[in-house]
Amino acid sequence: MFADTARYDEERQKREEEAIDRRRRETEKRNKYVGRMQRKAVREEKPKDFYLQQGLSPPTLDDLATCRTIGLEETRLAWWKQTFSQHCFAFHCRAGGCQRERACAFMHFEVAGTGAEDPSWLAESKED
Ligand SMILES: [Zn+2]
Repeated sequence: MFADTARYDEERQKREEEAIDRRRRETEKRNKYVGRMQRKAVREEKPKDFYLQQGLSPPTLDDLATCRTIGLEETRLAWWKQTFSQHCFAFHCRAGGCQRERACAFMHFEVAGTGAEDPSWLAESKED
């Protein structure tokens, strides 16, 4: 019994350490990207955050709907890169999603609803 608990704690600690490690790697990767984009902007005598602002706003549900109306994947990808260059195309627009998951250099943001549907917690508060 005690051995099981100790083993459980050990595994949990290992998972936590892995998560910390992963976050550290993701931060490093992001910082490198930021540095690269800032140097590029400075080289081209643009404002320092020129490339960091470009394509930063996440897509909305309407944008995703627009994306789906573009038939050819090549055209769709070109459109995406112009508008949401920092967001993952595969994550949002491919049937299988992004295969790179956490290793992906692009942002994975869940797109929030338009507010047309009531969240489930609202229904609960109506009961009293
Ligand atoms: Zn991705």
